[in-house]
Amino acid sequence: MSQNRKEDGMAEVVVIGGGPGGYVAAMKLAMNGKKTILVERDQIGGTCLNRGCIPTKALMHCSEVLETIRHSERSGICVDSWHVDRQKVDAYKNEVVEKLSGGVAWLLKKRGVQVIRGTAVFTGERQLKITLPGGEEQYLSPQWVIIATGSESALPPIEGINGKHVMTSTEALDVTDLPQNLVIIGGGVIGLEIGSIYSRFGVKTTILEALPELLPSADREAVQVLQDAVGRTIQIQTGAKVNAIRDFGDEKKVCYEVDGTAREITAQKVLVCVGRKPNTRELGLDRAGVAVSDRGYILVNECCETTAKHVYAIGDVNGRTLLAHAASAQGILVSEKICGRDAEVNINLIPSCIYTRPELAYVGKTEEDLKKAHIPYRVGRFPLNANGKALSMDEPEGFVKILIGKPYGEILGAHLVGARATDLIAELALAINAECTVEELIHTVHAHPTISEAVFEAAELAYFGQTVHVI
Ligand code: NAD
Repeated sequence: MSQNRKEDGMAEVVVIGGGPGGYVAAMKLAMNGKKTILVERDQIGGTCLNRGCIPTKALMHCSEVLETIRHSERSGICVDSWHVDRQKVDAYKNEVVEKLSGGVAWLLKKRGVQVIRGTAVFTGERQLKITLPGGEEQYLSPQWVIIATGSESALPPIEGINGKHVMTSTEALDVTDLPQNLVIIGGGVIGLEIGSIYSRFGVKTTILEALPELLPSADREAVQVLQDAVGRTIQIQTGAKVNAIRDFGDEKKVCYEVDGTAREITAQKVLVCVGRKPNTRELGLDRAGVAVSDRGYILVNECCETTAKHVYAIGDVNGRTLLAHAASAQGILVSEKICGRDAEVNINLIPSCIYTRPELAYVGKTEEDLKKAHIPYRVGRFPLNANGKALSMDEPEGFVKILIGKPYGEILGAHLVGARATDLIAELALAINAECTVEELIHTVHAHPTISEAVFEAAELAYFGQTVHVI
């Protein structure tokens, strides 16, 4: 036995990983009286708070302020001189991150969750060894374990992928040293969001996407609006298969193929964002009886139960939906189960949000899904250029599209592209989850002037085929 071994800790539940899945589960458990330990090897908040959603949104905000200044003359606001202080932009981003992750650490303490800074591995069924930063070991044998270890950037097997000036989204969050030009490999959510930030800061940006179309799981019409808008400042090449990244003097040369024709492009930096891989290595899952898929994701059922009794896996690590709010929802579901209650949260209805300008948000079925399943439906599509608030904000691009079932008018899906889309989607997620009909949406008064009126008018269009503000 190791000389550094500490006394076994007593805990009913051990949560491994302190991201939005793990910390939400831990707090919910503690709030319900369960003695809970949260083990985190790095910073509380995980990828979302420290290297993902939050720093990206802080940088997105800064870049939008810049864009507003650039176009302010249209609203009669003439800004004679301005400059970007990158150190201050970086400090602003860090301040937001520190405030939030410090806040979560404080809440965990107040809720009575014991946080252990260390790395957890299974030594047997629900037997854990935690290695602390100083090398000491602590052993825990809880009744339940929740694995919430998240994911990390996946790097495809492309020549030169590990070279200098080739970044993942983590390094791309440091904006103190921006390149003049950037090639982004992967036109998914990260590529589009970071591409938008960089291009607003004046970086000539090109996205190379392997698929023939961007964002294949989103509504085609909505993606077209997004692509047209983003394409005004970012060069987007779809159907581009990247095969090498080589040094080219001080720059990088990215070699790719489109329709079998070889092409190349040079840039000072390359960002690789082609998806994520689960953090399951070195967890000793085999010793715990926890099975993983071919791609390393932990296999779970509808309740996030793994193949081992009383061991759950939530968030990115189970590969169901790689989104922070999906992880939190799964954390709530699992904590309810452990407390012996029927979990009410619906983890199968997850809204998707992309924070470009215009924003894209969707929930439920797409038209493609409904056609494939031969489900009869009607569409209501209201353009934002007929909405007073969107026009006042000078953001008339986009629409709200609502899909309803025939003949009952149940809401099947909603696809929003435009200003505030990522906030408005909540109403439609609620409507679908509560099994509202479109009539109930129509009979709900929407405030004026707000973009939410476009939701009401899209619902009217789907139901009546007409509404007041468009012919
Ligand atoms: P993604 O899966 O969203 O997109 C990756 C893209 O890369 C895909 O379109 C894929 O076709 C393309 N691709 C794959 N291999 C390629 C290659 N060799 N050459 C060119 N293109 C290639 O992954 P991501 O953008 O890395 O994001 C990772 C995860 O983080 C996703 O699950 C995403 O949902 C999540 N995320 C969410 C948000 C948000 O909710 N706003 C923001 C950032 C990240």
